[in-house]
Amino acid sequence: MSSGDTLFGRLLQRQRVAPPIAPDTVSTPGIGLQVHLDAHGGVIHLTGPLRHALAQQTPHAHPAPLTSYLMPDSCLSVEGTPEEWLGHSLDLDFQGLGGQPLHLRGWVQPLADTWLLQLLDIGDLLLERRQARIREQCQQLAAQANEQLRLCSLARLPEVLTEQLQCVAQRFQIPSIAIALLDEQGDGWQVLHHYTAFDAPDLWHDNQRLGTRLDSLNGSAPQQLSRSEHPRLQSLFGNADGFVVPYHDAQGVAAWLLCGLYPAQQRAPDMHDRDWLDLTAALAAPLLERLREHRHRLQLERMESLQTLLGTGWWELFDDTESVHLAPSLASTLGLGNAQLSLQEWLDHVHPAEREELNARLQALQNDSVALSLCVRLHRTDAAQTPIWYRLQGQAVGIGKHRRLIGFMLDISDIKNQQQDAAKAHARLDNLIASSPAVIYVQRYAEGVLHPTFFSDSLLPLLGLSLADCSVGALVERIHPEDRDQYFERTRLLLREGSVRARYRLRDSRGDYHWLLDEAKLLRDDLGLPVEAVGLWLDVTEATLAAEQVKQSEERYRILVEDSPAMICRYRPDLTLTFGNRPLATYLECQPEQLPGVNLGSWMSTEQREAFLMRLSDLSPECPVSSAEISLQLPGREHAWWVWSDRGVFDEQGRLLEVQAVGRDNTEVRRTQQQLTQSAKMATLGEMATGLAHEINQPLNVMRMAIVNVLKRLSSGDVQIDYLTDKLNRIDAQVQRAARVVDHMRVFGRRSEIEQHPFNPAHAIEGTLSLLADGMRGKGVELRVSEVDFEVQVRGYVDQLEQVLINLMVNARDALLAQRETNRELEPWIAVHAERDAQHVRLWVEDNGGGIDPRLLERIFEPFFTTKPVGVGTGLGLSVSYGIVENMGGRLSVSNSPQGARFCIELPILLEN
Ligand code: ADP
Repeated sequence: MSSGDTLFGRLLQRQRVAPPIAPDTVSTPGIGLQVHLDAHGGVIHLTGPLRHALAQQTPHAHPAPLTSYLMPDSCLSVEGTPEEWLGHSLDLDFQGLGGQPLHLRGWVQPLADTWLLQLLDIGDLLLERRQARIREQCQQLAAQANEQLRLCSLARLPEVLTEQLQCVAQRFQIPSIAIALLDEQGDGWQVLHHYTAFDAPDLWHDNQRLGTRLDSLNGSAPQQLSRSEHPRLQSLFGNADGFVVPYHDAQGVAAWLLCGLYPAQQRAPDMHDRDWLDLTAALAAPLLERLREHRHRLQLERMESLQTLLGTGWWELFDDTESVHLAPSLASTLGLGNAQLSLQEWLDHVHPAEREELNARLQALQNDSVALSLCVRLHRTDAAQTPIWYRLQGQAVGIGKHRRLIGFMLDISDIKNQQQDAAKAHARLDNLIASSPAVIYVQRYAEGVLHPTFFSDSLLPLLGLSLADCSVGALVERIHPEDRDQYFERTRLLLREGSVRARYRLRDSRGDYHWLLDEAKLLRDDLGLPVEAVGLWLDVTEATLAAEQVKQSEERYRILVEDSPAMICRYRPDLTLTFGNRPLATYLECQPEQLPGVNLGSWMSTEQREAFLMRLSDLSPECPVSSAEISLQLPGREHAWWVWSDRGVFDEQGRLLEVQAVGRDNTEVRRTQQQLTQSAKMATLGEMATGLAHEINQPLNVMRMAIVNVLKRLSSGDVQIDYLTDKLNRIDAQVQRAARVVDHMRVFGRRSEIEQHPFNPAHAIEGTLSLLADGMRGKGVELRVSEVDFEVQVRGYVDQLEQVLINLMVNARDALLAQRETNRELEPWIAVHAERDAQHVRLWVEDNGGGIDPRLLERIFEPFFTTKPVGVGTGLGLSVSYGIVENMGGRLSVSNSPQGARFCIELPILLEN
């Protein structure tokens, strides 16, 4: 309690502050209040204008005590009598109208027998003093809040704010207080922090969004909310007394101090609007500053990291100095030590290809403010490195000497390189399409119709057409009349199914039709409605025509095969026919349709079939063809001889899949050949007839001699049994000898059998000698025959090989005899010997008859070639012999030795399995 509050204190005050009383102010009835008192302090009457402001103007008692006019607090100040108050200043609170105190100050002065208490109104004075005190407190509070909020760490800012709100709330007895700021998007207000006294209801919470309701308030002064003026805000304040104080900054109202459940007028009557505004500013200004600063720093950090991540940064070019500033991050990405450099240095970092353009554009920006936007490459020492591209944009800002060019550089290498890759790919694709027989098109959908809107450039080279030539109507016009229905169907299908594949003919600019394979797809929008069709025309004219040609050619081949006189067939490796033409069917006495499934081997003997299969097994992908003469036993016929050629068809592993064969009937030729052989044989026989007469004469002579001798003995009667037996035996031997010759002649004279058989060629030599040896010797020709010391088998006809040997020996004999006519000294000989190797056996027939004129060597195997006189030589011997040896799979050849001719019969040895 201060000393002024006690009675004693008041008395002291009364004495101390008493003003001197000037005589001319003794009675001033025009101002203030004059109270006329009796000696005891009782009020006699009141004068002066202030008496109307008193609650009690006509007291009940008379004289009424002065205290009945005073507020209870002031009663103590007027104890005692007026005389005692003399010389003191009296501060008295009178009861005013409406219960309001009336602050008056005055003094007493004696009148004749009464006292006059002269009082002046000091209400204003007191109010001012109170207000000054409050303002001071308020300023203190504000300064404290301001300082705290400014200096605290950012992390503690919410806490400090709450503390400061609490201080304010407590100081001004505000039950609920909050500070609201514009939210970050600036589209409404938001409670930043609040403080609620423990006994007050919670009106708000932190971060509560308030919307734009506060915007309706007058932003220039604190205001008490009233139901009538601010109906929308009432609910925000719990429909109770709300008091709000705005805070302004350069951008307008930036914050509100919200005081809930707070009749400000009553609770803080001495607070001026100014005080509230200052207090609010003290809270909001540092707060906003801190928050803005924080946001700014975040923004900067984001920018920094964004620039680093994007490889971007600002640049700034000063007009007057021609120096360039770069964002530090940009400078370091560019590998520059310094973020400040001259324009020339900066330009030097740009690739020469773009340097001049950049310079020119910067000039244009500088002089004419033409906005700059350019893509440049960095100049790199190693040209092989992937280029680094930057997009450079800039604009001019400021005027006069403050004018500068600012902009940014953005690393667009990724995009640029991708762009270039894409451009390359695009170019390749364009090229591909342009050079391929394909056209890509787009047709836009509009009301059920597809309008061509795009064709790839290949349209012109391919069809000689342009987009204009392909409007809906024109396109239909160009389609071949026969194919139009297909085209309409294609469009219907495309719209219905979403994709289509069609084939039709389209007329090009020259009037030629192209077969087009059209594949299209329909693209739809989100709602599933058709937007456009994308498709591809593939020119398949050539393929179509080729297919047509293949078909035609196949048809021709089919006809060829059908009508061919040759037998044509296909069969599987097991000899089952899969196809055979008419001639084959005719031979086999059936219809061509009946051939598939028939086994070719069923017309062959076991041996023939084995030989046939053996031949097939030799076929290989490298050597797929084999020819042979095959003999078959056809139904109801004698043997047939076919010259047969097989071609194997193999799979990838080289396995035989099927055989295609062509054959011709060789039976007639074969018969003729056989007849020829036979005639040749007969000719040989005829030729041998002379020799044979001698052969047979010899035993006949021996027998005649024996018989003559026996008869002679019989007539002399001197017949001994032994002698007779001896002669008869001799005769018998000669008979046998003759019989043997005749027998062999008979065998030799027979036709060869149909099938070849294995035999030992040594037997043919023996057979030949049995026919010729004696005759030869009779002609004085020595036979030098070497023993055959090996045994082999060849396949063929033994009689035919004998015939060959006979021909050769007879020819040798003829040559020898002819030679001897000119050379009497000649000792003619014919040598016959045999040799073998692993695969072949060779029979040699040589003579010393002088040989064959080398000019004739090539011709002697020709049929009818002879050097002998007409009627002597037939010219068939060697040619038939040649055919026989060939037929046995062998070879007949001739050469000259120093003495004479040298013939060689080479035959394949039949290998035993
Ligand atoms: P031909 O004996 O009826 O003439 P060939 O075909 O047997 O018919 O013989 C053809 C020709 O070959 C003979 O006319 C002959 O000139 C020649 N010739 C054949 N063998 C011999 C040989 N050993 N020495 C010399 N010439 C020969």
